[in-house]
Amino acid sequence: MVVRYRKAVTYGVHALLAALQASGVECELRHGTSPEETAAQITASGGDRVLVLWSFYSPDAEAMAAELAAVRALADGPHVLHIAGGVHATAEPQHVLDSGWDLAGIGEGESTIVALVTALREDAELTTVPGLAVRDHDGVALRTRPAPQLPLDAHRSFPSGARRHVGPIELTRGCRYTCRFCQTPFMFGGQFRHRSVASVVEHVRGMREEFGLRDVRFITPTSLSYGAPGPDADLDAVEELLASVQAELPGDGRIFFGSFPSEVRPEHVTPEAMAMLRRYVANDNIIIGAQSGSDRILAASGRGHGAGPVRDAVRIAVEHGFRPNVDFMFGMPGEDEADQDASLRLADDLVELGARIHTHTFMPLPGTPWRDADPAFIPVETMRRLDRLAQRGEAYGHWRRQAEHSTRLAETAKAYPRRTRRRRTDG
Ligand code: SF4
Repeated sequence: MVVRYRKAVTYGVHALLAALQASGVECELRHGTSPEETAAQITASGGDRVLVLWSFYSPDAEAMAAELAAVRALADGPHVLHIAGGVHATAEPQHVLDSGWDLAGIGEGESTIVALVTALREDAELTTVPGLAVRDHDGVALRTRPAPQLPLDAHRSFPSGARRHVGPIELTRGCRYTCRFCQTPFMFGGQFRHRSVASVVEHVRGMREEFGLRDVRFITPTSLSYGAPGPDADLDAVEELLASVQAELPGDGRIFFGSFPSEVRPEHVTPEAMAMLRRYVANDNIIIGAQSGSDRILAASGRGHGAGPVRDAVRIAVEHGFRPNVDFMFGMPGEDEADQDASLRLADDLVELGARIHTHTFMPLPGTPWRDADPAFIPVETMRRLDRLAQRGEAYGHWRRQAEHSTRLAETAKAYPRRTRRRRTDG
C-alpha cells in the first residue's frame, strides 16, 4: 500500500493504519509525500497489487485529481488501484470516480480498509467490501453495504511503531449539533461517541513509553462536550479525563485542550470550566466557534447559540488567562449587509476584549444541508474591514482562498445534483 501522505489529512490516515495494524492483515506500507514520490513508491514496491490511498477535503478535490493524473502518468497499470476516502469521497463518490479514482471509500474507513486489503490479498470481489463505491459497467457509482460506525474505543487514533504516525488523540467522533455548513454530523453521525478515559490513557502511555513524548493534544468537534451525551457540558467527566492524562505524563508533560486542532462552543465557556482547565492545560489560547454576530444568521445556520454567549465566552476566557481565537464565517446563505455589519461589530468588540478573529468564508460543502445553497455576496467594504483587522494582526485566516473554493464547490454541486439515483450492490 502506498499512502499519498499529506500533512492536511494525516490524522485520518493514521487511524486507518492503526486499524490495519490491529487487524494483523499483512501489508507493506510506503509513503509518498509528493506526486513524484508516490509514483516512485508504486514502481519501487514491485507488488502484484498496489493499493494507493488518498484522502482529501472537498476544497482540495480538484487539485488532488490533477495529482492523481500526474501519478498515473508516471506509474500505472492494471495492478494499481487508487482509492480516495474521507469526507469528499463519502459525500460525492460519483465525482471521485469520474475524477479518475478506481474506488471511493464511503464513511468511516477503519473496517473498509481492513476488508479491502484482505479482499485484494485473497483475490475476492471488491463488491464484498463494506463502505466502497466502485465503477459499474456504465460508469455509475455502485455502492457496497455501509461500513459500520463502531464505538470509538474500537479504533486507535494512530498505530504504534513509528514516531511520524503519532498525533492528536481522537476524543470524540460525531456531533449532536446540526450546524448547516458542517460535514461532521453527516460524516460521523449526529451523536457523540466519546473515547473512554482508559483508552485515552492507553494512547498516552504508548506515546510516552515508545517515543518519550510528553505533549498531548486531542481531536474533538467540541472539547467541553467530552463525556456528555447532550448539549450540557459534564465538567466532572472532563476533569476525570484531564486528571487521568496528567497522572500518566511525566512532571514536565503538557496537555493541550480546547486549542488546535479542537475548539469549544461558546456556551460551554463558564468560569467553572475555565478555572478547571487552568489547573490542567498548558495552552495559553482557546478556540471558540462563533461564526456570526447576527442572531438571525446563527439561528438559520442551526448553531444553537446566539451572539450574546460569544461575547460572554471571550470575556470569561480572557479573565482566566486564555487568549481566545474566535472563528467567524462570512457569506453564509441569506446573510445581508446588516448581518455582516453585526459580525464585524462583534469582531471589533471581541478584539477589544483581547481575542483574535479567525476568518472563514462560507463554502457549500458536500453532504451538508447547505450543499446547494448560494453563498451570500461579500461586498468590497466588508472585505476591506476584514483586511484592516488582518493588517493590525487582529485577524487571520484563508478567507479569500476559501471564497475561490466556494465558487468551485458550487459548480461541482450543480454538475452532480443531490438527487442522483443511488445504485447499491445486493450484498
Ligand atoms: S460546527 Fe462544530 S458544533 Fe457544529 S455540527 Fe460541526 S462539529 Fe458540531
